[in-house]
Amino acid sequence: MQGSGSTRQDDIAALALQAGLKPDLLARFPHALSGGQARRAAVARALSVVPRLIIADEPTAGLDVSVQGGVLNLFLDIRDRHDTAFLMITHNLAVARHVSDRIVIMYLGRVVESGTTAEIFRAPRHPYTKALLDSEPIPDPKHRRAEPPVIGEVPSLAARPAGCEFHPRCRHVRDRCRTEAPEDTQLGDSHSVRCHFPLEETKAVTAMAAG
Ligand code: SF4
Repeated sequence: MQGSGSTRQDDIAALALQAGLKPDLLARFPHALSGGQARRAAVARALSVVPRLIIADEPTAGLDVSVQGGVLNLFLDIRDRHDTAFLMITHNLAVARHVSDRIVIMYLGRVVESGTTAEIFRAPRHPYTKALLDSEPIPDPKHRRAEPPVIGEVPSLAARPAGCEFHPRCRHVRDRCRTEAPEDTQLGDSHSVRCHFPLEETKAVTAMAAG
């Protein structure tokens, strides 16, 4: 773990420090920690085994926005200092954009698009990805959406739609989509999409700018 001559208490204090926890918090019971402190304690615990990869499932869920920023910056700091990789699972696009190099979009538990963060946010090629980005709230009371970005409800996993599983909700659906499941198609070195009719790059960018 830490230096060979250190005691276990020294190691714990060093890990807590790395995770941004003050030493006086180490004597507290878990229920006496705030949400942000508990998240930092979980990070410190994960660091104790010197991981090459940390999987974080909704790491900022339930935290105030200011606390979220602290936890995410902690991840970036750990990544840079220890060369630790992070696999983060989140519904929060702002979080994904802030900390990720690559993004994988899943629908009904299957990958529908993957690419660098810049590619995904600049020009999403799958209609579901585009709908997700268009669903982000715009802090302008005058802004009104002409139509919802996606239609219908999420289907049951026990009754997956035939063909493209997104087709009952897709605004770009065509006949082929209802019967034939799309293959994963490589669009470039790092970008792939599972759609028969990927959005055109220029159209996606124009629509985002207008949205
Ligand atoms: S395959 Fe068809 S239904 Fe599925 S996302 Fe692409 S356009 Fe929409």
